[in-house]
Amino acid sequence: MRYKITVDKECCIGCGSCVTICPENFELDEDGKSRVKNPEVEELGCNQQAADACPAGCIKIEKIE
Ligand code: SF4
Repeated sequence: MRYKITVDKECCIGCGSCVTICPENFELDEDGKSRVKNPEVEELGCNQQAADACPAGCIKIEKIE
């Protein structure tokens, strides 16, 4: 199974929670908002925790067939 991880930049408030929880796949961009390093992953790992912890609900996880 593959997953697509996306962050809605309009929605992101730059709190940094996703970066703290899942630094291997999230970083803050020059604009102070979250950026996904690898948008397609085989294993969700901490991406799910990051999505669950986002206070604004900006991280979307989709399954790719
Ligand atoms: S947790 Fe959500 S609001 Fe905070 S930086 Fe990450 S994507 Fe943005």
